[in-house]
Amino acid sequence: MTKNTVFGVISMYFGSVKFFKRLILTVFWSLVAAAVVLAVVFGILYGRAKSRIGTVSAEVSDGEKLNISKDASIDEIYSALRANGYSAEEILDCVNSYDESAFASYISAKKDVTPVSETTVASETEQTRTSDVASAETVQTVETEPEYMALFPDLYATAPTEEIESDNTVYLTFDDGPSKNTPDILRILDKYDIKATFFMCGGDDEYTKMLMKQVADRGHTIGVHSITHDYEKIYSSVDSYLEDMNNTYMSIYNATGVKPQLIRFPGGSVNDYNKGLYRDLITEVTRRGFTYFDWNVSGEDAVEGATWTTIYNNVTEGVQGISNGRAVVLLHDSADKYTTVTTVEDIIINLQAKGYTFAPLDNTVKPVTFRID
Ligand code: ZN
Repeated sequence: MTKNTVFGVISMYFGSVKFFKRLILTVFWSLVAAAVVLAVVFGILYGRAKSRIGTVSAEVSDGEKLNISKDASIDEIYSALRANGYSAEEILDCVNSYDESAFASYISAKKDVTPVSETTVASETEQTRTSDVASAETVQTVETEPEYMALFPDLYATAPTEEIESDNTVYLTFDDGPSKNTPDILRILDKYDIKATFFMCGGDDEYTKMLMKQVADRGHTIGVHSITHDYEKIYSSVDSYLEDMNNTYMSIYNATGVKPQLIRFPGGSVNDYNKGLYRDLITEVTRRGFTYFDWNVSGEDAVEGATWTTIYNNVTEGVQGISNGRAVVLLHDSADKYTTVTTVEDIIINLQAKGYTFAPLDNTVKPVTFRID
């Protein structure tokens, strides 16, 4: 076959009726196929959109109808049913979703973020709808409460009802006692008729109990410090702190008959050991009615190398630097702090000469705290 013959056959074919028939059929079926594909695609998209905007009807299984718009979103329907006391399971039962599996996954996702307990869900089928709403709310509140709130039910104080203004007042505080040094400090305080505050570790031996009683009988304030003074242990959890606090509190109460109202956290309320915990600790002790005091003047008598001069200067100069009317001075009356004892009288003489008065802390004194947030 020559080239010309081939072209002749081709041009004959394109000019024939057969060709036009096939062309029309091809175009026709192409259009049908395109229409079907488009219909399927739009159907899927429409279905998705429908389940997203939620053209679902909410009808409860016993025939009771809720007044929910057919155009309401899944979210709105879910909220409306929850507000009427329906559990997540019941909502799924009574809603004829356009796309039930989508609604099911929506409900289960909602269940994860909605703290409705198993018992609440179960009880909802037995009780009246309205009371279920109330019980669901109650259960939610209970569930968010930390369990340590229930610990040590007697570990409560009376929260202050008033706050006094301090004016040129020095609040001497002694931590970590009592010890063999405590009687000397008591004698000095008596000599100047000064009341101070002792944040105690306490203890159960007879000598320690006798010292605690002396401090209380002489009218000084006793606050809770820490019976173990073991930072790592007490700041390992709120439970652990409360256990130590309760033991200290009971030790003081058993020895003196006084129920302490004040706390000084070992190391202060915010320290290197309780960074992740101090907000919870403060919230919890405050909830229990206790008032905690840090300090704004430190004798630095627990620092290595502390001498009579450093302690004396730290306190007398520190107090003069206070502008809010209340200097809360940190000192220690533990057994190894005899140097502190030797400074107390001179500190009193110095500050009294400058017009300062001394007072014991109580929970009406506006707290001095490290917390800044
Ligand atoms: Zn201490």
